Amino acid sequence: MKLQAVRGFKDWLPEDFRRYHYLCEVSRKILSLYGFEEVKIPILERTELYVRSIGEVTDIVQKETYTFIDRNGESLTLRPEATAGICRMVIEKSVYAKQKPIRFFTIGPMFRHERPQKGRLREFYQVSVEYFGDITPFVEAELINLSMHILKEPEKEFGSFLHPLRLEINSLGCPECRPSYREYLVSALKEKKDELCKTCQERLERNPLRVLDCKEDACKRVVSGLKTLNEFWCSACREHFTKLSGLLSSLGLKFFHNPYLVRGLDYYVRTIFEIKAEGLSAQDTVCAGGRYDYLVEELGGPKLPGIGFAIGVERWGLVVFGEDRAVPERQALVFIAPLGDQANELALKLSYELRVRGIKTVPSYEDKSLKAKLRFADKLGVEYVLILGEDEISQNKVCLKDMKRGTQELLPLDDIAFLVNRIKSQAE
Ligand code: ATP
Ligand code: MG
Repeated sequence: MKLQAVRGFKDWLPEDFRRYHYLCEVSRKILSLYGFEEVKIPILERTELYVRSIGEVTDIVQKETYTFIDRNGESLTLRPEATAGICRMVIEKSVYAKQKPIRFFTIGPMFRHERPQKGRLREFYQVSVEYFGDITPFVEAELINLSMHILKEPEKEFGSFLHPLRLEINSLGCPECRPSYREYLVSALKEKKDELCKTCQERLERNPLRVLDCKEDACKRVVSGLKTLNEFWCSACREHFTKLSGLLSSLGLKFFHNPYLVRGLDYYVRTIFEIKAEGLSAQDTVCAGGRYDYLVEELGGPKLPGIGFAIGVERWGLVVFGEDRAVPERQALVFIAPLGDQANELALKLSYELRVRGIKTVPSYEDKSLKAKLRFADKLGVEYVLILGEDEISQNKVCLKDMKRGTQELLPLDDIAFLVNRIKSQAE
């Protein structure tokens, strides 16, 4: 059998990695402007962490996690998201005792056993941003604005996105008001049970809120006839939502209140939001987040409210680069074309000397003609070639060829500083 990558797990070629790297750089740059610090959490955690945080009856924990028993007989799970792990770390390392509020972010792969399709993978990357220690709408507005800021930053370099971003917000209510809505929802849905899709019939009792964002037309029809969550908000939740809306407007952010917006994880309360890329594909949500005020406590930590969001890097990449836009190489490459063994040895040393001085250099030791080597350099898009042929070596010189301008000059081989200056001044 031919060996193939596991379904839903992707290889990245250098051009894919360049795109990923670019998006990480943008994220790190903007996050640092907002005072967020990067942390790393393990890819594996005890299964119990996700059962207790994301929720036992959620789609993620019931159907999507990669869970296995390790050699010590412990049940471990590949992380499906980062919030739970960061909360565990904050508790375990008593971070809350040293600093508050806490502004952390992490970038890395997540794993979910879902049906692979465009924008839906089994191994995918997230930029996860978490803020602990504040319950006000000010921080929510700041974080929502931050997520937009990050997502839109590449427009500066690549121009307006083909798929414009759309911000949707909602409030899930709080422990005061959500239960009465849940009760209403379950009984109202039970009356229409036959009209719901199979999955939603199952969700009805254990995870009824998820029925609200089911993509099936039949379920959408049922839901559109029901009362919405905002009709059940307590006065504090209503006030909170009004305040947040005002703050977002004052930041100049356009947003939509989507009363059917819910999240797939149990721990959210009050404010939740999603950013969609209109028309991207069936999977158009590039960023999602919300408030989780009781999660740290439920995991055995102190009272520590939190709010966060996660950007799906692959989907964001589709918005920024489409299927094939490349990230340009920023540093010019110098290609060395030596001819013969003695020249190869010189090229080996010379390339090291140049690299030490910060010049990206690749020698070609192959036994090929100069013409073939230049053709290859051209194909690579190389800007400068250093030719080391018999003539050059006999004069203790090297020929610098500028591929774009088509010019060339002979330079002393033993004056590296001079050579470097020539290359650098031409590259400017
Ligand atoms: P969805 O509604 O797309 O299933 P979700 O509610 O499961 O999303 P979150 O857990 O909030 O998503 O994840 C945040 C972001 O991570 C999503 O908006 C999306 O961009 C990305 N994401 C989630 N699951 C996947 C996946 N299987 N493949 C690629 N990206 C994903
Ligand atoms: Mg999902």
